[in-house]
Amino acid sequence: MATSEFELIGRYFTHRTRHAVLGVGDDAALVRVKRGHDLVVSADMLVAGRHFFRDADPRLLGHKALAVNLSDMAAMGATPRWATLALALPAADARWVRAFSRGFMALARRFDVDLIGGDTTRGPLNICVQIMGETPHGKALRRDGARRGDDIWVSGTLGDAALALAALKRRIKLKPAELASCAARLHSPQPRVVLGRALRGVAHSAIDVSDGLLADLGHILESSDVAAEIELAALPASAILRRYLDRVVACSALLAGGDDYELCFTAPRSARERIARLGREVRVKVTRIGSVGAYRKALPRLIVRAPDGAALRVVRGGYDHFA
Ligand code: ADP
Ligand code: MG
Repeated sequence: MATSEFELIGRYFTHRTRHAVLGVGDDAALVRVKRGHDLVVSADMLVAGRHFFRDADPRLLGHKALAVNLSDMAAMGATPRWATLALALPAADARWVRAFSRGFMALARRFDVDLIGGDTTRGPLNICVQIMGETPHGKALRRDGARRGDDIWVSGTLGDAALALAALKRRIKLKPAELASCAARLHSPQPRVVLGRALRGVAHSAIDVSDGLLADLGHILESSDVAAEIELAALPASAILRRYLDRVVACSALLAGGDDYELCFTAPRSARERIARLGREVRVKVTRIGSVGAYRKALPRLIVRAPDGAALRVVRGGYDHFA
């Protein structure tokens, strides 16, 4: 039996709000930003066939649709507060919507985010989430704040999500348990919201790693007009990924794989101990991977040093020997 869109909204997308003046049910929601704070706004869309497989588990999709948006809040050092959800659905499939909303709302509750509105329509499966959060005036972590002499850090480990995707596309063969572990990173990313907020006033710049370390660190370097060197051997990788590091697929997953949703940030050397302590407090591994320097025209912005000291030149999300 087809369920009407209003029934779906009423049943699965109407929840009590904690931070909104007015939530789902009117023509628009009302929110009030805390005094002395900036409103931080971002949207991320997930399109079937491009960002996920059409038959993907709806509960995991609900989780991921919000997680990737929370990751943008984390990268800004913002406290996420409100989200809207625009959904195009091929059919009013109540079971699908129930599972989707469970995944979405479980994560929303975990980070105390209100779902305050959205839109529901028929169409090819498409999920667009807008997220809004707060930071104290002027305290957001931006891409353009990196300075010469900064250390470069990343949270967690990199590359597992891309390794899982490569395995699903049969470009590398993993053992079932290895695939299960990496696929969890791909399907169920854990946004580093708590770490991001803790880095406010400590880090000079930050970005979340959604397109791969090289590309995303590259954005910081360009925005800040600086250059950097990182060490391949210093990059944090899971035990599983390390087993396959002699394979190009794994090495490029580490350097250029997307979907990790870790944070990459820069901070002054004087903050080293503080950041290590912060990492322990919020229980997220943080690893120093290189440093920021001056940018000189005609030289690469980002150099990756191999364990033998040779420079690998970064080319279009990959790398080759530079020396
Ligand atoms: P309108 O016709 O004014 O756009 P809708 O019928 O689209 O109103 O939506 C009714 C209410 O339900 C609005 O408050 C809207 O924000 C909310 N809403 C619709 N779809 C969703 C959704 N997928 N998630 C959360 N809220 C939704
Ligand atoms: Mg509408």
